[in-house]
Amino acid sequence: MANKSQPFEYAPAPESRSIVDIKPSYGLFINGEFVDGTGKSFKTISPSTEEVLAEISEASDADVDLAVKAARRAYTRVWSKMSGAERGKYLFRIARIIQERAREFAVLESIDNGKPIKETRDVDVPTVAAHFFYYAGWADKLGYAGYGDDPQPLGVAGQVIPWNFPLLMLAWKIAPALACGNTVVLKPAETTPLTALLFAEVCQQADLPPGVVNIVTGAGGTGRAIVSHPDVNKVAFTGSTEVGKAIARAVAGTDKRVTLELGGKAANIVFDDAPVDQAVEGIVNGIFFNQGHVCCAGSRLLVQESIADEVLAKLKRRMKTLRVGDPLDKNTDIGAINSAEQLAKIRELSEIGEAEGAERWSPKCDLPSTGFWFPPTIFTGVSQAHRIAREEIFGPVLSVLTFRTPKEAIEKANNTPFGLSAGVWTEKGSLILWAASQLRAGVVWSNTFNRFDPASPFGGYKESGYGREGGRHGLEPYLKNDGAR
Ligand code: NAP
Ligand code: MG
Repeated sequence: MANKSQPFEYAPAPESRSIVDIKPSYGLFINGEFVDGTGKSFKTISPSTEEVLAEISEASDADVDLAVKAARRAYTRVWSKMSGAERGKYLFRIARIIQERAREFAVLESIDNGKPIKETRDVDVPTVAAHFFYYAGWADKLGYAGYGDDPQPLGVAGQVIPWNFPLLMLAWKIAPALACGNTVVLKPAETTPLTALLFAEVCQQADLPPGVVNIVTGAGGTGRAIVSHPDVNKVAFTGSTEVGKAIARAVAGTDKRVTLELGGKAANIVFDDAPVDQAVEGIVNGIFFNQGHVCCAGSRLLVQESIADEVLAKLKRRMKTLRVGDPLDKNTDIGAINSAEQLAKIRELSEIGEAEGAERWSPKCDLPSTGFWFPPTIFTGVSQAHRIAREEIFGPVLSVLTFRTPKEAIEKANNTPFGLSAGVWTEKGSLILWAASQLRAGVVWSNTFNRFDPASPFGGYKESGYGREGGRHGLEPYLKNDGAR
């Protein structure tokens, strides 16, 4: 319905899904081929329609063992022997194929994950290609990365990723591993396996030697089998802090190297001299991008008390213009919540927010009747003790807190077990630099939010995990650390 802040209607602008060819069922990608798994199978659905998209194999321990063996053979016989320049050629080829097939990847990701096509098209897929291009460039220059003259790979990397950025997390894992000369066994999340399986086809198209990349689909048990496999040299995990802790326990006492990218509860701090309209855009991007399914989401807004009323009024006005609905519509801002389980978690924490006394507000929006949906929501009157200020909601829900002095802002921002990211909005360069030095967060954005660049390292402090992905730093977890620094 047209309203005052939205005086016209948008015509539907659906992206065609005819470009993707979703098969009724998929096997596992082991040693360069799709093979039948020996385990059970499960279904992946479209979270916006609940339509079953395909039957997916659940890799058993035996299947994971086959994949690790294939990765080991490829590592020993081919990949670790190949020159960096040759490895780089494969990575450049993969990057180019992803660009060529960008629309296919974008549509498939939107269907399987529920995120809006404008994000998969303009953010996820271009960033994936950029990541492969970036690490392709490092493959023949590893001796100049600061990890010794001739740094050596680790061997087989076992990689487990979440559902919020399925293809992008795959790129963050596979590109540096391969550039450094490792081979991989990767498990995508149970609810979003399809773009990883399409990536397997890209590996075939690029003539990547069999076994260099193996994709095994499945649930938590498959992830556990990868992590605990004795012939895996390196574990790379992105997901929840809870599972991250279990993985840290599982590899303790082994000589496996581990990196963990876990949860977050980032503070987005708006000082009283900030350009307010720009900050409102940054607040919206910080929490409503990707339905708030973002580990580094700006889920705690800290706004200086003197401008809080103005910021909130403008934020609410802006939120009334957000369009929630069909992920394949090019005008959609907020798509579907990824799963019924995640929707239940968002609902539960939001109800707890109200029960604890915070005030809940959402713009009026008509949500589709099938699929999993949650309106963009803000909570005001939030105190630091509230669970919605402490726990990751991983949905389109913002907790608003206020502060009076910069010192109080930093104290509140750092008052969290997490430390993945933070945002600072102010016109003063000196305040940006001071705040960035005080914030205990791996990434601090100033006058922007949720920017990702392959050249820039990303990772956490405290319960947000350890290790860095991206940039020169992202090579280190995939190289033996006995080289000179
Ligand atoms: P999750 O439950 O921890 O799952 C992550 C991955 O681990 C999935 O592939 C999952 O399989 C698998 N898994 C589950 N149990 C396992 C086990 N015991 N051993 C090995 N693997 C196991 O997290 P999620 O719900 O998918 O993702 C949301 C979380 O990820 C949020 O907390 C978010 O903050 C975090 N995240 C962090 C970053 C970062 O860079 N720091 C980025 C994105 C997301 P299933 O799919 O079958 O569950
Ligand atoms: Mg799905």
